[in-house]
Amino acid sequence: MKTGSVSQVVGGTPLVKIKSLSDATGCEIFGKAEFLNPGGSVKDRAALGMILRAEKEGHLKPGDTIVEGTAGNTGIGLATVAAQRGYQCLIVMPNNQAQEKYDTLRALGVELVTVDPCPFANENHFYHTARRRAEKLSNSFWANQFENTANADIHYQTTGPEIWEQTLGEVDAFVASVGTGGTMAGVSRYLKEKKTSIHIRLADPMGSGLYSYLKTGKFASSGSSVTEGIGIMRLTENFKQAKVDEAVQVSDNEMISTLYHLAKHDGLLVGTSAALNVFAAYQYGMENKGKGRKIVTVLCDSALRYQSRLFDSQYLQDKNLKVSPLTS
Ligand code: PMP
Repeated sequence: MKTGSVSQVVGGTPLVKIKSLSDATGCEIFGKAEFLNPGGSVKDRAALGMILRAEKEGHLKPGDTIVEGTAGNTGIGLATVAAQRGYQCLIVMPNNQAQEKYDTLRALGVELVTVDPCPFANENHFYHTARRRAEKLSNSFWANQFENTANADIHYQTTGPEIWEQTLGEVDAFVASVGTGGTMAGVSRYLKEKKTSIHIRLADPMGSGLYSYLKTGKFASSGSSVTEGIGIMRLTENFKQAKVDEAVQVSDNEMISTLYHLAKHDGLLVGTSAALNVFAAYQYGMENKGKGRKIVTVLCDSALRYQSRLFDSQYLQDKNLKVSPLTS
């Protein structure tokens, strides 16, 4: 285990074997336990990577304000690292995310701005709002997680090598969903360099355009999803670096069934994107049943970050979410 300041203990997360789904598929399915990072998600890595790069390039000095538009986890990661390193944070978020994320950000002392959710083309989108706020504020740094490739680079430098070492180089497949693309780009780039035969699967929620983009070259989407932090309708600088073999779409009912299954059978309380990732990994295991493949995916954050929604039967009913048994 690592010892040190908050910045020094980001990453180095355990690789948890998901026994129930490994047994069901005759493969070995592992989840990288990113919810164990200090800020509670995979985005602590991106936050640290962007802050370290900005410090190195002279864009940040003590007391400066880090500005970012985020679905929440990057904001929490930035606020966690910023508090420890002596920066302020101004975080812009859409106002339809789980309450727990706003509460966590306020507890960390950030200035929080919320905006109505809207398409990216609208100037009021959280991304453009954050950019404008940063432009107006002196002594500020706009992290810009979508286009700032310090995001993918930290996954290339840390998450990829950790997975390689933890599987003793025997990893056969990597499965992940995409928000900015940082995780997918950094990890897939590293693992493909190590082993060209590795299979990289992108798991896309409904309402996201990546599935269509990878199949047809055009961004198009149908439906919608309650998942938070994943799905995108444009090509980011981070995602451009990704090496993806195949994309699959996962429905919210498959995601929520996996989320409840993992809680009940594996003692894993994971968030919506993690559950979606695990479903796509399980599906890959079923397609390769009995072949003993080692499949790695990402447990991006914890179910506790969405507790007020995910374990509220009224919420599930309102969103038409049905929990069904995953394995027979
Ligand atoms: N899961 C969750 C819960 C997230 O918040 C994010 C980032 N927005 C992701 C997955 C996707 O990670 P990335 O930005 O590296 O694609």
